[in-house]
Amino acid sequence: MTTLLTFPKGGVHPPDAKQLTADCPIEVIPTPDELEIILGQHIGAPCTPTVDKRATVTEGEMIGEVKKGLGVPLHAPVAGTIKLMGMSGHPMRVKAPSMTIKVDHDAPANEYTRSDWSDKDGKELLSLVHGAGLVGIGGAGFPTHVKLSPPPSDTIDTLILNGAECEPYITSDYRQMLEMSDEIIEGAKIILKILGIKNCCIGIESNKPEAIKAMSAAAAKGASPAFDIKVIPLQVKYPQGSEKQLIQSITGRKVKGFALPSSVGVVVHNVATTRAIYDAIVLGKPLYEKIVTISGLGINKVGNFRVKVGTKISDIVDYCGGVNSKLSKIIMGGPMMGFNISSLDIPITKTTSAILFLSAEEIDTTPHSNCIRCGWCLEACPMGVEAKEIAIHVEAGKGEDTSQFGVFECFECGCCAYVCPAKRPLVQFMRLAKMKAKR
Ligand code: SF4
Ligand code: SF4
Repeated sequence: MTTLLTFPKGGVHPPDAKQLTADCPIEVIPTPDELEIILGQHIGAPCTPTVDKRATVTEGEMIGEVKKGLGVPLHAPVAGTIKLMGMSGHPMRVKAPSMTIKVDHDAPANEYTRSDWSDKDGKELLSLVHGAGLVGIGGAGFPTHVKLSPPPSDTIDTLILNGAECEPYITSDYRQMLEMSDEIIEGAKIILKILGIKNCCIGIESNKPEAIKAMSAAAAKGASPAFDIKVIPLQVKYPQGSEKQLIQSITGRKVKGFALPSSVGVVVHNVATTRAIYDAIVLGKPLYEKIVTISGLGINKVGNFRVKVGTKISDIVDYCGGVNSKLSKIIMGGPMMGFNISSLDIPITKTTSAILFLSAEEIDTTPHSNCIRCGWCLEACPMGVEAKEIAIHVEAGKGEDTSQFGVFECFECGCCAYVCPAKRPLVQFMRLAKMKAKR
């Protein structure tokens, strides 16, 4: 039997709970009467509106741009009128600047048709990616055109597509791999052309055999001498989909410290981002819709939904028949790396992949206690961070002294907290320490 590839250090095996939505085909949620578009949806500077209050906008029209610094433009997800420049709910910042569009339900939806991109060079393709407002939609929202422009000093030989989707509950990438495999493969070819390389590996955990089958078939169907695209089944281990771990699993190369993946010759993109690149280049469609998993025992209907960016969670909950009496906790994102939210008055952004409505039986409510120095957190950490020491320092008001324990290597995967027998909120301690510590 072949041993499946994985990363060497740490990692955990939480129950994946994907059975709740894995077989739910992507369903379109009707556009609500109003959308709230948050201006800062990516890493970098937030957008400045390019339209005024009361302006009429069309679907796909640019409504915001970043004039200076890192960023990408924003587009209207629908035709309508700019009703308000104000503030909207935000999962991390409580409130964030936004613009509200009153939707014109009578306007016809845009129809996008295929166009040939083979005559465009890498520079033109890159500019189209930027113009379509693309950001990494499976993660923190790093502008895609920047990730596609590695420093000239780094020699890139491999594109990795991240189809691991290792966070429990989330199946939005899985459904896209099943339902849009040809689009993902064409998106991969566009990226390869931009990077000027041939080799692409699509990493998928082995608990998704249907996705492995669909993506392998699409890669075979789209095979051409110009590209070498293959699917790599991976061992099921969280956080297999984290960038550094994925690179090490597939290539054996280790990205050091704060270096970029390009330092080891690799560029990584999520499969959903790759599908969005297809939309942008082949269809000319900017990024203004998201595939979002709604799951958990605390909501009446679960599934994978196509929603317009700016749709409020409350509108999604209404469409799903409301929450039920089992609801105990709402998480934006997955249970390992997501954020608790206490309001439904928060709009979907380009980076939202899931909202979980969890019941008491799906979460651990045991109160935390003192560290028993078992060392399990260090054993589970894929980065070798000493979470125990960092937490103890933060509790003692010495968060500024924690860089010696590797706090800046921490990418908040939650493995340490997952294994901690004292149920210590180690990720929260890491976040507090990062605010205080000096590099
Ligand atoms: S959250 Fe940070 S410290 Fe904890 S396991 Fe993940 S990387 Fe390590
Ligand atoms: S796993 Fe928890 S109890 Fe054990 S050493 Fe780490 S912080 Fe302490």
